[in-house]
Amino acid sequence: MIDTGFRSIPVFPDDRFHEECAVFGIFGHPEASRMTYLGLYALQHRGQEGTGIATMNGRHLILRKAQALVSEFYTETILDDLKGNSSVGHNRYATAGGDSERDLQPLTAYFSDGPMALVHNGNLTNAVELRKELEREGALFATDVDSEVLVHLIARSKGSGLVERMEIALGAVKGSYSLLALFPDGLIGIRDPLGFRPLSIGRLGNAYVLASETCAFDLIGADFVRDVEPGEMVVINKEGLESHRLFSRRPGAPCVFELVYFSRPDSRVFGIPVYLARKKLGSRLAKDHPVEADLVVPVPDSGVAPALGFAERSGIPLDMGLIRNHYVGRTFIEPKQSIRHFGVKIKLNAVPGLLEGKRIVVVDDSIVRGTTSRKIISMLRGAGAKEVHMRIASAPIVSPCFYGIDTPTRGELIASTHKNEEIRRYVKADSLGYLSVEAMEEEIRQCRIPDGSGHPEGDGFCNACFTGHYPIPFSTEERIQHGLFDTLSPINPAADSFDHLDPED
Ligand code: SF4
Repeated sequence: MIDTGFRSIPVFPDDRFHEECAVFGIFGHPEASRMTYLGLYALQHRGQEGTGIATMNGRHLILRKAQALVSEFYTETILDDLKGNSSVGHNRYATAGGDSERDLQPLTAYFSDGPMALVHNGNLTNAVELRKELEREGALFATDVDSEVLVHLIARSKGSGLVERMEIALGAVKGSYSLLALFPDGLIGIRDPLGFRPLSIGRLGNAYVLASETCAFDLIGADFVRDVEPGEMVVINKEGLESHRLFSRRPGAPCVFELVYFSRPDSRVFGIPVYLARKKLGSRLAKDHPVEADLVVPVPDSGVAPALGFAERSGIPLDMGLIRNHYVGRTFIEPKQSIRHFGVKIKLNAVPGLLEGKRIVVVDDSIVRGTTSRKIISMLRGAGAKEVHMRIASAPIVSPCFYGIDTPTRGELIASTHKNEEIRRYVKADSLGYLSVEAMEEEIRQCRIPDGSGHPEGDGFCNACFTGHYPIPFSTEERIQHGLFDTLSPINPAADSFDHLDPED
């Protein structure tokens, strides 16, 4: 075999947290599959490893799914095949389960009273124990995904009618779920009792639409009605929309990271316009961590809104000193001979002539391992920056997420083992400033439009990845399974070693 001197490596995973999934559903529309396709198109940022749509044509379920992007997979023929006036769709970023095609959603099942298609965004933290129990009782699983546990629980539920069956099935699970279930006579949408992941209701003519984010409504011309409340189940059928409270209302814990990074900036999530919240985070950074500088430079795309907020408040001009290549695929061929910062350069490059001799404030949404920040700062210095001050529009990330987000282990999170000054030295910044958890939540809360959000003023947030305080307690078995008994101290005072991080550069 000829050695080409090149190797193909994935662009993802990069040094970011990753949202796991997008869900979309519609009931009572003559072009259900096309609307779902467009909804998934708008929600592509929530999962790039696979996509699927199921439609209900009378009592007949039609399913198409593939390991591909929405734009790559669906064709006129596929959408024509997906007949029916109700539909659910899913984009997946694999973590719970494997990455094979059989683990893609919608999951389908055929019960005595008809077929069901289910899509789930979130993570069931007790899925392993539930699965073992179900397998002991004879259940046969067709996939490795946690969501399949739900299918079995719904099938076995002894409740009379759908609402009661769902209530009994969901009573057994712990964790996060925004899920949709499509039946011949209706579409159901449910959010877990703490409302970790978003789920909104829209209206398109006479049809109801459910989606992970409101940006999907904007693309298909649907009007935002309201969010599904934490612990609420909505049943949509030809009579309209009915609400059922499956769990009594208690203070919610929606994921604060949706506002920091995951959601699209043009969405309204948990009643909060995402773009405005991100600008406010940047503005607060300028107040809490001021610095003398000549230019504010965002790390595109997620650093743009906070950088604008920083620039507005500080009076320092903003310019696009880093340019992102938007046409990066999912893998690239890397030369064998090392090129400095190659991985980052595939996506980002510094603008020549702009940064020469300048004191730069570089603004990003978060630091995960620190490896990307280090390369970006080195790239800015290579382009002539005299000083580089890093500002982060969130708090230090110290713990992994178990509620539907793909995160590295605790030991790989630079802030779980290193103090700010140590991180500053590692990323080679002249100064480094993070927001505190309190400042972050205060700014975000101020943006809330309570109307229709399902989250009253008093509702808090899940901030476990910033604090290590998980809103759902873990059993001993779950703690072992999730590595929560690791012996890392929150801060290692002698942490001069970054060996556990990417040693490159
Ligand atoms: S742990 Fe972090 S990413 Fe996960 S749900 Fe909570 S805030 Fe969101």
